[in-house]
Amino acid sequence: MNKEILKLRGTLQQDHQLAEYTSWKIGGPAEYFYRPVDLEDLMQLLRSWEDNPITILGAATNVLIRDKGIKGLVVYLRNTLNNLQIIDDFNLRTESGVSLAHLIKKCIDAGMTDMTFMAGIPGTIGGALKMNAGANGDCIWNHVQSVETINRRGEIRTRQANEFKAAYREIDGLDPDEWFVAANLVFARGKKSEAQEKIQTYLKKRANSQPLNKPNCGSVFRNPTGDYAARLIESCGLKGKTIGGAQVSEKHANFIINHDNAKAIDIEALIQEIMDTVEKSTGIKLIPEVHILGQK
Ligand SMILES: Cc1cc2nc3c(=O)[nH]c(=O)nc-3n(C[C@H](O)[C@H](O)[C@H](O)COP(=O)(O)OP(=O)(O)OC[C@H]3O[C@@H](n4cnc5c(N)ncnc54)[C@H](O)[C@@H]3O)c2cc1C
Repeated sequence: MNKEILKLRGTLQQDHQLAEYTSWKIGGPAEYFYRPVDLEDLMQLLRSWEDNPITILGAATNVLIRDKGIKGLVVYLRNTLNNLQIIDDFNLRTESGVSLAHLIKKCIDAGMTDMTFMAGIPGTIGGALKMNAGANGDCIWNHVQSVETINRRGEIRTRQANEFKAAYREIDGLDPDEWFVAANLVFARGKKSEAQEKIQTYLKKRANSQPLNKPNCGSVFRNPTGDYAARLIESCGLKGKTIGGAQVSEKHANFIINHDNAKAIDIEALIQEIMDTVEKSTGIKLIPEVHILGQK
């Protein structure tokens, strides 16, 4: 950190607890924690930050933060880089901290309707771009025209969608220490009432099949080709399996819930136990979808 940091408009916090920011309500402290006021402020922060590791979080709905926390700087973008502009009938520009729920609302108001597949995914645009978030047969990278990224020197670049390779829950093409700050997205138009109906159907389906009343991070594992992680986990008798305060959901076997003040170490042990048991009994190696961050 250098003296330029004094020009920041937000508050840089030290040893700041992260659990409350995560959908699992789990995780130790960030050595340094910052919520930028806007993009200019984030550029200023990164220009001033010299060598510590940098972690960027959206809404922390797909991360497990270890109990010892994260070394270096953690930047939390949810509801901070929050600018969304409708450009024309089909196009919009959104910054990375905008929530998918807010994006959906703005699109529907503007008559764009084929983003309904995202209904119920609780993250930000930045996290969705990094994870290639998807559901109901569609994913965000099908709608990206270009993105704006920032690097650790605080420099902004505009990059076209064809510079990236989107795959199931991952994206290839981002440099190390390069993060999304905005995207230009394109959506088709349709009837608002039909879009709203679809959203209600998707939300109902989630409420019926997912344990939304307990802290969780969505699906913990990627589905292997041609199968479902939940089916494999259930077939191994692991529904309800508990380690410490972490439990394989009885409602959806690919969800691990924070059942009773779980620690990250409980969740990680349960993830390992599921992987070992499923591999031993089916020969299939499950791959976690959730990103595990922080010091062991
Ligand atoms: C109840 C529930 C249901 C879910 N359902 C779905 C679903 O149907 N489909 C689906 O795909 N996901 C689902 N998820 C998972 C999650 O919501 C998505 O992966 C979401 O896109 C993550 O966004 P986020 O902002 O929370 O990212 P975070 O969890 O904050 O970050 C995820 C990863 O992206 C990185 N990252 C975050 N922001 C940026 C950025 N601006 N630039 C570069 N890297 C960044 C982080 O460092 C981390 O490695 C669900 C989660 C929950 C809790």
